[in-house]
Amino acid sequence: MNKISADLIYTGIGDALKNHKITYDDDGTIISVSSLEKDEIGVRHFNGALCPGFINTHCHLELSHMKGKIPTGTGLIPFITSVVKFREFPQEQIDQAILDADKEMYDNGIVAVGDICNKVDTASCKSKSPLAYYSFVEMFDFHQASLLQPTIDQYMEVLEGQSDLDLNEKNLVPHAPYSVSEALFEFIRNQKLEGQRTISIHNQETSDENQMFLSGDGPFYQFYEGFGFNLNDFNAPKKTAIHFNFANLDSTQRNLFVHNTMTSREDILAAYKWSDHVYWSTCANANLYIENSLPDYQAFIDLDANMTIGTDSISSNWQLSILEEMKTIKRYNSFIPTSLLFQWATLNGAKALGYEALFGSFEKDKKPGIIHLEGPISDGDIDLSLAVVNRII
Ligand SMILES: [Zn+2]
Repeated sequence: MNKISADLIYTGIGDALKNHKITYDDDGTIISVSSLEKDEIGVRHFNGALCPGFINTHCHLELSHMKGKIPTGTGLIPFITSVVKFREFPQEQIDQAILDADKEMYDNGIVAVGDICNKVDTASCKSKSPLAYYSFVEMFDFHQASLLQPTIDQYMEVLEGQSDLDLNEKNLVPHAPYSVSEALFEFIRNQKLEGQRTISIHNQETSDENQMFLSGDGPFYQFYEGFGFNLNDFNAPKKTAIHFNFANLDSTQRNLFVHNTMTSREDILAAYKWSDHVYWSTCANANLYIENSLPDYQAFIDLDANMTIGTDSISSNWQLSILEEMKTIKRYNSFIPTSLLFQWATLNGAKALGYEALFGSFEKDKKPGIIHLEGPISDGDIDLSLAVVNRII
C-alpha cells in the first residue's frame, strides 16, 4: 500500500484538493482519497500537483514520421494535400516513428488514446503498448459514388488488422462531413457494434467546410477538381456542416466531434438537441499549426459541453502532450478555470472513449495512472505555464 500527497490534488472532478492524500495498491489501483492527518507519517509528499493519467482523445499515430515536415499556418486544404504527399515513406522509418511517439505519450503522462487509422501500421505497437488505444478506422470516399465499394473493401481489411487486445478497442468511423457520402455514412452507421461505442469524426475545422454545406461552393470544390473528382452527387443542405453529421450519424452512440474551430453556439445547442451522448475534442496546438485559429471555448463552457483534449498527429503539432495542450488553451483563454481544464484532460476524455470505469479520476477501484506536475502554485492552482510532467504510475 502506498500513500502520496502534493500541494494540490486534481481528482478529475471539481476544484483541486489541499491537504489530502491518495492511497493506492502496488498495481496502481486507487484505495482512497482522504484528508491528510496532522503530522501523518508514511506519506510521500510531492511539490506541485497530482492528477490522473491524461486521455488523448485525438491522435493519428501512423502519421508520426511526418514530424516537422509540413509547413505551419497554410490552412486545412494545403495541409491535407501535404499529408497525402508524405504518405510514401520507408516502412522502417514509419515503424520507428510510431514507437517513438507511443513512448513520448507514455512519458508525458497519457494513459489512453483515441487514434485514427487509415492503415494497419500502428497495430503491432498498440498490441504491446502500456497505453490503451481506441482505434478509429477512418473511412472516406470524397462523395464519389465510384469509390464507395473500393473504400468499403479496403477499410474492412484495415479494421480486421487493428489490435483489440486487452483494453484496446476498434470500430469504423467517418473522416469528415466534407469527405464522406451519405451512402458511406449509412454503411458505417449499420456496422455491427456491441454496446455503446465511440464514433469520432473531424468537424468544422475550417470555414471552407461550412461554406461547402451552406452554399455549395468554395475551396473544397476546387480541391476535389484537383484530384479529378467533382461534387455533382453532393447537394448542399444549406445548413452548417455539423448538421450533415446529425443527419447521418447514430445519435445513440457516443459521438466525438474533433476540432470544432468553426462550431458556433447554435451548432452546440443543436448537437445536444440531437443526442445526449455528444463529446467534443479540442486540439489547440494543431489548430494553431494548421489554421492559426482556436474554437470559441466560452460557448462550449456556457453550454456545459463535454469537452475533451486531443493532440492530433505530430505532423501538425510540436509534441504529443496533453499538458502542452492545456498550457496553450490557458495561454490564449486565461478565463478558463484550471480545474476545468484538468476535467477535460482526464475524466471527460475517459468518458468520451468509454474508459471511465478504469481511467479519468481518482476514485476507488479505478487504475487511472498517477501523474505528478511539478511547478509553482498561484491563486490556488498549479501554474500550468511552468508545470513539468513526471509519471508516478
Ligand atoms: Zn485528425
